[in-house]
Amino acid sequence: MSFDTSTLYLIATMLAAMLGGMLVLFGRQENIAALKWWGAAYLLGSAAVAIWTIWGPTLGMLASLVLTSIGFFACGMVWNAARVFHGRKLLWPGLVLGPLVWIATMMTLAPRDASIRLSMGAAIVAIYAALTASELWSERRRDMQRRWPTIAIPALHGFVLLLPILLGVYLRPYDANFSNSIWVTVFSVELVLYAIGTVFVIFMLVSDRTVAAHKSAASTDPLTGLFNRRGFSEACARVIEREAIAGRPVTVMIFDIDHFKSINDRFGHPAGDEILKLFAVVISSNLRLSDLSGRIGGEEFAALLPCSLEEGVIVAERMRRTFESSDIVCEEGPVDTTVSIGVAGGPAGTELEVLLAAADTALYQAKRTGRNKVEAAEELPLSLENWRRKSAGTTSADRAKPAVA
Ligand code: GH3
Ligand code: MG
Ligand code: MG
Repeated sequence: MSFDTSTLYLIATMLAAMLGGMLVLFGRQENIAALKWWGAAYLLGSAAVAIWTIWGPTLGMLASLVLTSIGFFACGMVWNAARVFHGRKLLWPGLVLGPLVWIATMMTLAPRDASIRLSMGAAIVAIYAALTASELWSERRRDMQRRWPTIAIPALHGFVLLLPILLGVYLRPYDANFSNSIWVTVFSVELVLYAIGTVFVIFMLVSDRTVAAHKSAASTDPLTGLFNRRGFSEACARVIEREAIAGRPVTVMIFDIDHFKSINDRFGHPAGDEILKLFAVVISSNLRLSDLSGRIGGEEFAALLPCSLEEGVIVAERMRRTFESSDIVCEEGPVDTTVSIGVAGGPAGTELEVLLAAADTALYQAKRTGRNKVEAAEELPLSLENWRRKSAGTTSADRAKPAVA
C-alpha cells in the first residue's frame, strides 16, 4: 500500500485546522482560556505544516527554519494549554526553548544532514508530548482507570515520533533514504490520529470538570458553603457505609436556631443571613475532617460524626456554648444567638433516616423544655413508618413556643 504523503499531510493539516477553529470558538463561548490556547496551537501548527507541504521545496533555508520553529512553538503551546487548564501559569521559557534549540541546531550542527534534522525535530515534538502527558498525568493519577486516554494519547504520539530516532539513527545510521521514506507516511497518519485523539481528550476533561462543578453546585448551600440537604444525605450514606464496614457507631445531630424568626424581624433578613453564616462557622470549626455537616433547612443544620452518642453530646454541648457566647451586637442591640440541638446515636450501619428521626424527636424535646440546650435521643424509632405518621401531625409550627424575648 502506498500513500501520497503530500495529500496525507494536507488532510492532517486541514483536520487539525478545523479542530483548532472549533476549540477556539468553544473556548471563547465557554470562556475557557486553555481551549483557546489549544485551538490557537492547532491553527498555528497546521498553517505552518500546510505552507511547508505546499511550498516546502521552493522555500529558502530561512523560511523553512521559521516555519519549523513555528511548528515546535505550537507543540509548546499544547503543553502550556494543559498547564493553563489545570490552573498553572504559562511557562514562556519552556514555550520558546524548543524552537530556540531547533534554530541553534540548524545554524550550527547539521543543516544538511537529513537524519539528524529529522531526529532532532522528532525529539523536540516528543519531549513536548511527554510534558503534555505528564501534565495530564499529575492531575489525573487519582482515577487512572477512566483517565487512561489523557495520558496514553500524548505518550503514544511521543513514542511514534521517537521511533525513527531509535530505528533510523541507531539501527541504520548510514541509510539516508530510510528516514525520508516510511516515517513521513507514519508521521502524517499519526498526526491525524493525534489531532483527533487530543480533541477527544480535551472534551473529556472539559466535560468532567463541568459535571463536577454542577454536581458540587447541586449539593452545596450557597449561603453557608456547607452541604445542602441533598449533598448531606449523599455524603452521609457513604460515611455510614464506610463506618459500618469498620463496625463503628455513628451519631447524628440536628440544630435549630432559637427564635430565628424574631432575629429576622428585629434585625432584618440580611442580619439573619449573617447569623446563619456564623453558625455554619461554629459547626465547621467544632468538627473533625471525618465529620459531615449540612444546612438541611432554613435555620436548621445537621451533622454526622463517626462516634458514640456520649461523645456526640459533648461535641454538641461545645457547639451550643460557642454559639451562645458569640456576642453579636447590631445597631439595634445585642442579638441572642442560641441553638437547640437533638442528638441521636446508633450502632454501626444505622440508616441516616432513622438517626435523623430520633435526633428530630430529641430536638423537639429540647425546644419544648426551654431551648438553648442539647437533648440526646433515648431510643431509635422502631419503625420509620410510625415515626413519619406521628411527625406528620407534629409540624415545627406545633413545637412549643414561649413568647419571644
Ligand atoms: P424556634 O425557636 O421554635 O426554632 O423558632 P424559630 O423562629 O427559629 O422558628 P420558625 O420555624 O418559626 O422560623 C424560622 C425562620 O427562619 C423563618 C424564616 O423566615 C427564617 N429563614 C429561613 N430561611 C432563611 C434564610 O435563608 N435567611 C434568613 N435570614 N432567614 C431565614
Ligand atoms: Mg426551624
Ligand atoms: Mg428555629
